[in-house]
Amino acid sequence: MKIKLLRRLIQLTAFVVLLLPIWFTDLIWYGTYISAELAGIDLTDPLTALEITLASKTLWTPLIISAIPLAVVAIVFGRVFCSYICPLNFILELLPVKRKRALQARTLPLVSLAIVLVLSAIVSVPVFNTVSPVFAFMRMMIFGFGVEIVLLALVIGAAFIWGQKIWCRTLCPLGAIYGLLGIKRRLALQIDESKCIHCGKCEKVCSMGTAPARKNFEDASLCTNCGDCVGVCNKGAISFGMTGLKDKR
Ligand code: SF4
Ligand code: SF4
Repeated sequence: MKIKLLRRLIQLTAFVVLLLPIWFTDLIWYGTYISAELAGIDLTDPLTALEITLASKTLWTPLIISAIPLAVVAIVFGRVFCSYICPLNFILELLPVKRKRALQARTLPLVSLAIVLVLSAIVSVPVFNTVSPVFAFMRMMIFGFGVEIVLLALVIGAAFIWGQKIWCRTLCPLGAIYGLLGIKRRLALQIDESKCIHCGKCEKVCSMGTAPARKNFEDASLCTNCGDCVGVCNKGAISFGMTGLKDKR
């Protein structure tokens, strides 16, 4: 099965599964994109756990423990939350917009991450959780359309003006923390230089404005391991592999 089709199926399944608790009880899954319970295991996204810890100035062990599973997934598989689970990414990828390469400020998401963490500590409120368009989407699904629609409209509007993933590439602190955790991921792209003809297709298809051959910190933190570049390379020069540290991009 083509990697893009497989990804779309996983995105769709994640979308449906996350909405199921709205209509059904007694599932092994219950919760939202930021905090959930799966078969009795508590799950919290690492950014939410950090924000709550800083906002409350309290180190609550169950919260920290609940952030470990998703952090481990990012450490091993990289930023796969973005490419396979995030509902906002799913919506953005279905928009009929171009993948423009404007605003090459690749470290801005890290600045955004630092800002929301510092602000959370100062105002004692988990800042990104309050204004996150990712969570706003979930709230809209549960409670109906409200003021959250403004946040989504801004992200979608920006996509039409500056390119499909402008939010993910330049602002989203949730993506940034997963990118940081996955900077030395085990599942990484492998390039077979002997097969590469430098046609540039892989770079053109990448919605995050990166390219599989680049190994610098910014590109590694932006790559979501989506596999679009693997699928587009008809020379078979790009593949995924579980690597040692020295081979990672
Ligand atoms: S960068 Fe943020 S909005 Fe974009 S896919 Fe990742 S978590 Fe979702
Ligand atoms: S480099 Fe490849 S795997 Fe990484 S984000 Fe771009 S298209 Fe996806």
